[in-house]
Amino acid sequence: MRTDIRNLGVKAGWKALTEGMIIAGAGTSREFNTGEWSTDKPVFLEEKCKQCLLCVPVCPDSCIPVVDYKRGAFDYGHCKGCGICVKSCPFGAITMEGVE
Ligand code: SF4
Ligand code: SF4
Repeated sequence: MRTDIRNLGVKAGWKALTEGMIIAGAGTSREFNTGEWSTDKPVFLEEKCKQCLLCVPVCPDSCIPVVDYKRGAFDYGHCKGCGICVKSCPFGAITMEGVE
C-alpha cells in the first residue's frame, strides 16, 4: 500500500504513516503548513517600509514573497517566527508579536 503524503500532518493517525523504508513522494512543504506551530509571528508595518528587500533573502523559509518588485505579505503558513527578518530590516518595518 502506498501512502498518500497529502494526508499526513500533525493529526495523522499511525495508520496513515508511511511504511518503513518506503519513500512515498519527494520532500516538499507545499502540502504542509509548517508554520502552524509557531509561537511568534512577524508583523509588517507597511508605512515604514522602504522596499529595500533586505528582508527577503534572509528568511530561511522563503516566507517573504516579492510581487511586482515590492515585498509581499508574510506567508504565515510556513513562517517559523524566528525573527531573522526583524533583525535584517534597517527601517523598523517588522515587529514580532505572540500568536494567540
Ligand atoms: S527590510 Fe524592511 S524596509 Fe526593507 S523591504 Fe523588508 S520590511 Fe521593507
Ligand atoms: S520570522 Fe523567520 S521564518 Fe518568519 S518571515 Fe521572518 S525570517 Fe521568515
